Amino acid sequence: MASGKPSYLIVGAGVFGVSTAYHLIRKYPDASITIVDRDAYDADSRVAASWDWNKVVRADYEDKIYCRLALEAQDIFESDPLWQPYFHRTGVYWICRSDYAQTVINHHKELGRGDDIVALPVAEARKLYDGLFDNADYTGAKEVLVNKSSGWGAAGDSLVAITKKSIELGVKYVTAGVAALEFDGRSRCTGVKTEKGDVLSATHVIVATGAFTPTLLERSAAASGNEGLSAGSRILAAGITTGMAQLTPEQHEKFRNMPVGFQGYTPNEGKPFIGTLPPTKDGELKWWGSKIFTNTREVLPGRSLSSPPPTSDYNQWKVPGPLKQDIVEARNLWYGPTSADWEMTKHRICWDAFTTTSDFIISPHSAAKGLYIASCGSFHGYKFFPVLGKYVTQMIEGELAPELAEKWAWDRQRPDSSQNVEYPNSEMNHLLRKV
Ligand SMILES: Cc1cc2nc3c(=O)[nH]c(=O)nc-3n(C[C@H](O)[C@H](O)[C@H](O)COP(=O)(O)OP(=O)(O)OC[C@H]3O[C@@H](n4cnc5c(N)ncnc54)[C@H](O)[C@@H]3O)c2cc1C
Repeated sequence: MASGKPSYLIVGAGVFGVSTAYHLIRKYPDASITIVDRDAYDADSRVAASWDWNKVVRADYEDKIYCRLALEAQDIFESDPLWQPYFHRTGVYWICRSDYAQTVINHHKELGRGDDIVALPVAEARKLYDGLFDNADYTGAKEVLVNKSSGWGAAGDSLVAITKKSIELGVKYVTAGVAALEFDGRSRCTGVKTEKGDVLSATHVIVATGAFTPTLLERSAAASGNEGLSAGSRILAAGITTGMAQLTPEQHEKFRNMPVGFQGYTPNEGKPFIGTLPPTKDGELKWWGSKIFTNTREVLPGRSLSSPPPTSDYNQWKVPGPLKQDIVEARNLWYGPTSADWEMTKHRICWDAFTTTSDFIISPHSAAKGLYIASCGSFHGYKFFPVLGKYVTQMIEGELAPELAEKWAWDRQRPDSSQNVEYPNSEMNHLLRKV
C-alpha cells in the first residue's frame, strides 16, 4: 500500500468521480490520482447515469442550498472555456402545482441574482414558444415558472472532455470492474481488488459508483467481515426509463428553440418531476417516464438489496413493454395526441443512487478509515458536475462547511420519503407483471 504521500483512488468515473479527480489534480498536480471504472471513458455505451445525450442544468430549486450550488456550477458552465461548449442556455418552462415558482424566485432574489425568471399564469404561459406546450397536461397547475437562465448540458460529451482533461493533467484511468474494497487488519481501507484479482492501493479511497454503491459496499462487508460497511437504508439504487423520438425536419424546426420542460408534481399526484429536453442536433427529442423503480435481488447468498441487473450493461437497452408504455404516457403529458405517431428511436433504463431526502452523500465512511463516499445523485446530480469535486476535496480534508457536512453525512437522521416525489415509487418486477 502507498504510504507517506497521500494518494487517491476514485472508484467510478461518473460526474462525482471525474469531478473529484479533476479538482484533486488541479490542487495537487504531483499527487497520485487514479480513477478505476468498469467502462472505458470513451466507450460507445456506458452504464453511468452521467453518460447521456443531455441533462437539465437548472438552479430552480426549492432547497436553497442546492439553488446556491447549482448557480455556482452554472456560472462555471457559462464562463469557463473548458465547460462552456457543453452548456446550452435554452431556458426552463416549469408547470407548477405548488408554490414552487415563488419559492425559487425568492431564493434567487435573496442570493442577489438578476436572472430573467418569472411566474406566469397558465393561460399566458401556454402561448409562449409558439404554443409548443399548449397540448401539455395542466391539471392542477397553479402557474408556470419560466427561467431563461437555465438550460441543458451535453452530459456524455462533457464527461469525456473533463475526463480527458484530467488525464492530460496527470490522472491515471484504469478500466476494470471492482469486486470489493480492501482493508488492513485495523479497518483501514487500503484500496480495491478488481474482478480479475488485481489490487490497486491508495491512502484515500473514494467510492463514486452511483447505483452500484450499495452492492459494492455489501460485497465488501461480506468479504471483510466488517458489517458496518453496508449502506443499509441510507442508499437505494433505482432505475428510470428515458425515451427518444426522431422528429421530422418540420417538427425539428418547430422544436429547435424550445426550452427544457418540467411537469412539477406534489406528493398528492404520486409522480416525480417529468422533463422533456430540446432536440439533439440530429432532431431527437428526449423525455423520461414517471416510474422510478427499485430492483431488489440477492446480490450474495442471503443478502438482498436493490441493485442494477447483474450484466455488464445493466440491461439498460433491453427495455420491457410496460416501461415503454410509461414513456408513452409521459409523452402525452407534454405533447398530447399530436405526438401519437412519433417514431421512437431509443429507450434506455438509467440507474442512479437515491437518499430519502435527495441529498448527496459526500462523507467519510464511519466504518473504515481512508474510505470516503461521493454518491447519491438522486436523479439531480449532473448539473453540479463543475463543483462536486471541490466539495469532495473539502470533505476529505475536513474543510466542508458545517451545513454541507451535516446535509451530506453518511450518518445522519433522515426523514422518510413520503414528501419526496423524486424517491423510487415502484419495484421493477411488479411493474413488469402488470402487463
Ligand atoms: C434518466 C435520468 C435523467 C437524469 N436527468 C438529470 C438532469 O436532467 N439533470 C441532472 O442534474 N441530473 C440528472 N440525473 C441525475 C444524474 O445523472 C446522476 O445523479 C449523476 O449522473 C450520478 O453520477 P454518479 O457519478 O454518482 O454515478 P454514475 O454516473 O452512474 O457513475 C458511476 C460510475 O461507476 C462505475 N462503476 C459502478 N460500479 C463499478 C464497479 N464495481 N467497478 C468499477 N466501476 C464501477 C460505472 O461504470 C459508472 O461509470 C438524471 C439521472 C437519470 C437516471
